[in-house]
Amino acid sequence: MDRRRFLKQSSLLSLGGLLIPSTFFSSCRKETLFEDINYDGKVLIIGAGAAGLYAAYILKSRGIDFQILEANTNYGGRLGRLDGFASFPIDLGAQWLHGQNNILGDLINKSGTKITIDDSEEKYWFNNQLISTLPKDLNALFTNEENVPDVSFKDYAIAEGFGDEYKNIVENIAGDSGAAASLISAYWKVQEEENWVSGDEDFKFEETYFDFIDKQIATHVKDKISLNTIVSKIDYSQDDIVITDSNNNTYAANKVIITVPISILKSTDIQFVPALPEEKTTAFSKIGMGAGMKVFLKFTTKFFNQNIIGGAICAAYADDSIGKIQSDIILLAFIMGDQAAYLTALGSDVAITNALLQELDGMYNGQASASFVSSHVENWTTKPFIKGAYSYSTIGMGYARQIAAKPVDKKLYFAGEAMNVNGHHQTVFGAVESGYNEVGNLLKDVKG
Ligand SMILES: Cc1cc2nc3c(=O)[nH]c(=O)nc-3n(C[C@H](O)[C@H](O)[C@H](O)COP(=O)(O)OP(=O)(O)OC[C@H]3O[C@@H](n4cnc5c(N)ncnc54)[C@H](O)[C@@H]3O)c2cc1C
Repeated sequence: MDRRRFLKQSSLLSLGGLLIPSTFFSSCRKETLFEDINYDGKVLIIGAGAAGLYAAYILKSRGIDFQILEANTNYGGRLGRLDGFASFPIDLGAQWLHGQNNILGDLINKSGTKITIDDSEEKYWFNNQLISTLPKDLNALFTNEENVPDVSFKDYAIAEGFGDEYKNIVENIAGDSGAAASLISAYWKVQEEENWVSGDEDFKFEETYFDFIDKQIATHVKDKISLNTIVSKIDYSQDDIVITDSNNNTYAANKVIITVPISILKSTDIQFVPALPEEKTTAFSKIGMGAGMKVFLKFTTKFFNQNIIGGAICAAYADDSIGKIQSDIILLAFIMGDQAAYLTALGSDVAITNALLQELDGMYNGQASASFVSSHVENWTTKPFIKGAYSYSTIGMGYARQIAAKPVDKKLYFAGEAMNVNGHHQTVFGAVESGYNEVGNLLKDVKG
C-alpha cells in the first residue's frame, strides 16, 4: 500500500493571525538553529521514537547535556523490525518514505542510503470484482478544495457522488490519515493534501525504516536512553523540573522535550504539576488518534495483486515483498480506523487472521486459505505506550495542532508527529522535523 496523493491546487492554508510556534524546519527550508548559543542546562527528552531520537541527535551535535526516558523495552516507538517471520526483515510500523522533499530525504542523500521507489499497481475491490480503474476519478474529491466543508470525509464523499459502492474505497483514503472516514475532517484532509510538499512518490528502504533511523540517528544517542522508564509525573512548578517515573525514581532537568504520542497526552498517564493550561489540554482533545494494525500473512503462492484497495475487513492490502531481496511470499493487511477497531474486538490473532483470509478467499476463489502458512499481527492500538496508529484531524479541530505544539513556560516543549505544523504530521519525517523545531524553540528561549 502506498499513500495516495491527490491533485494539488494553488491556495495556501491561512493561519489568520494565530500565534503559531516557530518552525525552524519548514517544508521548504531548514534554518540554522542559533549556532552562536551555548546552553549548559540539562534537557530531558520523554520518548525515544523518531522525534525524541532526532531532538537528542541535534542536542548532542550542539554539546548540550541530555537524557532520554523511554517507557518501552526498546527504542524506535512506532518504528520496528521483525526478524524470523519472513526471509526479509519486516517493518512493524512505519514502512514507506512518502516523498523525498523533507528532512529525512536530506539525510538519505547525505548518507547514500539506498531506497527504491514503490510504484506498484492498484486493483480495486469494487462491486465484488477486482478492477483496475474506478468508474469515477477519486481526484474529484480534491479538486475544489476552497469549498470543502468541515464535515466528515464520509459525508463529504457521499455529497460529491461517492456513495455506498465507494464506501470501502473512501475508507482506504481515510485510512491513510489513520482513522475512519466518519471521523476525519474533509476540510483538513483536503487542506493537508494541498499543503503537502514532500513529493508524490513512495519509497522503501532496503532493510527497514527502523534500520535507517537506527543507523543514521539512534546510534549516536542510544547510550543516553534509559529504557523501561515510564514517566508518570512532570513537576515544572519550580526552576528545576522534576520528573518521576512509575518506580518513583526522580530525574531533574532545566527543560523537557515531550515526544509521547498524542494518545498519551490525551490520557491521564502523565500528570503535569501545575496542570497544563486549558487551551493546551483542549487542543490535545481535538487531535484524534484512531486504531491501527498491520497483519502479515505468509503464503506458499502469490495469488494476489500488488495492492488491493477497498475490502470491507481491510481496505488496503499490499504485497510486502516489493522492494526487498526475498523469497517468502508475504501479504500485508494495513488496517486503520473502524476496521482496526472491529478486528481488535475479535479478541485473538487467530480470529483476526481468519477474518482476513475469509475476505481474501472471497476475492481470489479460496486461494488464500489454500496457500496460507502463518501470520503475524502487530496491533498498535493495544500497545500501552502508543494506543493507536497516528494523529488525525477531527471535525472542528481548527488550529489545535498549533496550540498543542506551543511550548509552556519556556520549560516544556512538545514534539512528535501530532505536533508537526508543517503538514507532515502522521509521518516519520514529520516527527523528526518536530524534534528539530522544538530544539530550535528551546534554543530561542535560551537566547531570550
Ligand atoms: C501501522 C503504522 C504504519 C505507519 N506507516 C508509516 C509509513 O509508512 N511512513 C511514515 O512516514 N509514517 C508511518 N507511520 C507513522 C509513523 O510511524 C509515526 O508518525 C512516527 O514514527 C511517530 O514518531 P514519534 O516520535 O512522534 O512518536 P513515537 O514513535 O510513538 O514515539 C513516542 C515514544 O514515547 C514513548 N512513551 C509513551 N509514553 C511514555 C511515558 N509515559 N514515558 C516514557 N516514554 C513514553 C513510546 O514508547 C514511544 O517510544 C505509521 C504508523 C503506524 C502505527
